[in-house]
Amino acid sequence: MNILIMGPAGSGKGTMSTQIVKEFGVAHISTGDMFRAAISNGTPVGLEAKSYMDAGKLVPDEVTDRMVKERISQDDTKDGYLLDGYPRNLSQAHAIESMAKEIGKPVEVVINLEIPYEALVKRITGRRLCKTCGAIYNIYSNPSKTEGVCDLDGGELYQRSDDTEEKLAVRYNEYIEQTQASIEYFNEKGLVHNVNADRPAEEVMEQIRKILEAVK
Ligand code: AMP
Ligand code: ZN
Repeated sequence: MNILIMGPAGSGKGTMSTQIVKEFGVAHISTGDMFRAAISNGTPVGLEAKSYMDAGKLVPDEVTDRMVKERISQDDTKDGYLLDGYPRNLSQAHAIESMAKEIGKPVEVVINLEIPYEALVKRITGRRLCKTCGAIYNIYSNPSKTEGVCDLDGGELYQRSDDTEEKLAVRYNEYIEQTQASIEYFNEKGLVHNVNADRPAEEVMEQIRKILEAVK
């Protein structure tokens, strides 16, 4: 099954993606994670992406599209993929549609996580991630057992440099101004399922599970 998951920063894309991958055996492709890895490895893509990410802006399409194309063509997507954080504008929506068709893996379902802005602020400023495994915590709603330490592997927890209220505002604007157009594009094709993401993670996942079971 070939899935897109969309929603503003803090809507729970990362958390839901981890669960979807576990239950449905698809390959997780997160462009944000790929950029963060590229930055910490100091690759050319990382160098290019860093200033945009630090500003909360979208990395140019040409860089992003190329990176996704390479990734989606790898063998581990043979049982499907879950694209998390891509596409983020109309041009990327066109790009994924044509490259996915080209490799015979067309987009089949789009999960759209909906949540009000006020709910995002708490989620974003409280978010902490494990340096080792990427597990996602929240100091308000889902804290680790020991502060600053991952429950799963003892890894150190950190806060993303773009997880501030100020940068959230910028990212949210990009979402409204650019990403919504790509959701609308897939909506016209009848692929979009709206999910209320302003609920506990288990409830959100329950609805996503039903949607994906029905498509499978
Ligand atoms: P995320 O982890 O999805 O919140 O992404 C973090 C940052 O990575 C974004 O604010 C952008 O700077 C960059 N990024 C991730 N995905 C894309 C994309 N599809 N197009 C452009 N920039 C992206
Ligand atoms: Zn960990």
